[in-house]
Amino acid sequence: MPGTTGEIFDVIVVGAGNAAFAAALAAQQEGARVVVLEKASLELRGGNTRFSGGLFRCTYSSVDDLMPIVRDHDDPATVTLDPYTSADYRRDMDRVTGGRTDPELSAVLIEQSHDTVQWMADVGIPWEFNRAVGAVTIPGSSRVKLPAGGALRVKGEGVILSSAWFRIAEETGIAIAYETYAQRLIPGKDGGVSGVEVHGPEGVRELSCRALVLASGGFQANPEMRTSYLGPHWSLVKVRGTRFDTGEMIRAALAVGAQGYGEWSGCHATPIDADAPTYGELRLTDRTNRLSYPFSVMVNLDGERFTDEGADFNLYTYARMGREILQQRSSVIFQVFDQQTVPLLETRYNTGAPVTADTLPDLAERIAERYRALGFRKDIFVKTVEEYNTSIQAGVFNPDILDGKHTSGLRPEKTNWATRLDQPPFVAYPVTVGITFTFGGIRINTNAEVLDYLERPIRGLFATGEMTGGFFYLNYPAGAGLMRGAVFGRIAGRNAARFVK
Ligand SMILES: Cc1cc2nc3c(=O)[nH]c(=O)nc-3n(C[C@H](O)[C@H](O)[C@H](O)COP(=O)(O)OP(=O)(O)OC[C@H]3O[C@@H](n4cnc5c(N)ncnc54)[C@H](O)[C@@H]3O)c2cc1C
Repeated sequence: MPGTTGEIFDVIVVGAGNAAFAAALAAQQEGARVVVLEKASLELRGGNTRFSGGLFRCTYSSVDDLMPIVRDHDDPATVTLDPYTSADYRRDMDRVTGGRTDPELSAVLIEQSHDTVQWMADVGIPWEFNRAVGAVTIPGSSRVKLPAGGALRVKGEGVILSSAWFRIAEETGIAIAYETYAQRLIPGKDGGVSGVEVHGPEGVRELSCRALVLASGGFQANPEMRTSYLGPHWSLVKVRGTRFDTGEMIRAALAVGAQGYGEWSGCHATPIDADAPTYGELRLTDRTNRLSYPFSVMVNLDGERFTDEGADFNLYTYARMGREILQQRSSVIFQVFDQQTVPLLETRYNTGAPVTADTLPDLAERIAERYRALGFRKDIFVKTVEEYNTSIQAGVFNPDILDGKHTSGLRPEKTNWATRLDQPPFVAYPVTVGITFTFGGIRINTNAEVLDYLERPIRGLFATGEMTGGFFYLNYPAGAGLMRGAVFGRIAGRNAARFVK
């Protein structure tokens, strides 16, 4: 553990993900002496950030706007994009959260998104254009059209984002204490917070500081909190990322009077490989995701469709799709493709073991065989696909736009990308739900100060990232999680250092 016994640190940052390091670096740039506490070991460090796809949602008006960020890591001639303005970002946040997102907090996220990504590039995080998720190849051209708002990702994804943050921290003299688990906040005499009790390699210690930034993630890896807040069905779900985000600092903040905020029963949860491990593994990072479902027919173990697979582009439906899968029997479903749609599968499907067959009855038989313990209704499955095939209306299938090619007479309908499943071999991927992060947390203001129940800042206490609530409800636009952590991390660090001064 860095520091001497009795030492008062300027700023302690709890956590070692993207949000934490944005805070740590911003505080350090303001002249504060900073220490970062990481619950995980050196090998497993980095939180969900390390598992992430590294996609950041930010505003821009043209490719030229992004070149000072991307620099020579990528070639602007290979991509095209539409402007993504503050109004577009606002519309997306309002649309996917049903208008519930905190207007002031999300305004800061939106307005500071581009500038914060630029700052991250300036301090040494490498960027590239995001061709992987939501990008489409323009027919007859070698150029790729980047998804609205999702044009940028960290080159090398979350693994490099995380390692770059650790490198920058080490180079700038930010101390990092591993296997150091913050378990309680120490109230100060002035109603604020004077330090944190940690459990580390040297046992239990109290660390004093002038300002504290909490950035220790959500509670998605804590089955007890999942059950309490999300509901009993969530107790057994697979966790897509780190096993260390277990919410104790959220509870610790509530215990010193912080206000809970946001959708405590809500979370980001996506379709993932049914055979994925219980917690995220670094060899797989985010490659267990199964997001090509808009081009599939999804059926549950009862052989029935249960949702509109083509309601929107996957970047706007994937975060809520996990919940819909959770409601199906045993939380297992199948995404079924044929040879027209198999070429559209994200490469991440390579990590899975699909069931394949030349006819639909054979496919049903093989699924039933492999998932005998769960009981698959193969007769109903075949009927479901036949009805689906005959309900498809005329129109041109175009995966690059909301093509409106739909079914008629089904419940639920498929509203886009409805193509007949009739080009064998057929391929079925087994899919379950994986939780990514929780939406409820503690309340901060636009200065990233933690607020109490009278909406007064708790002196010296700041927070950022997944542990803060009020940004996302019901759903989430892809790339806004890392962006929120970075924007408010930078604000938290800067303000923590100024508070110290
Ligand atoms: C597979 C996957 C893919 C994703 N892809 C994307 C993407 O492309 N774009 C996007 O925007 N979002 C993505 N996300 C979500 C994104 O990863 C998170 O929103 C973001 O990383 C959260 O950052 P954070 O710093 O708040 O938390 P984390 O990165 O989870 O960091 C929390 C840190 O706190 C530490 N910690 C926890 N408890 C304690 C404690 N008591 N004491 C000390 N330390 C503690 C943890 O060990 C960890 O270091 C993805 C998530 C997953 C799992």
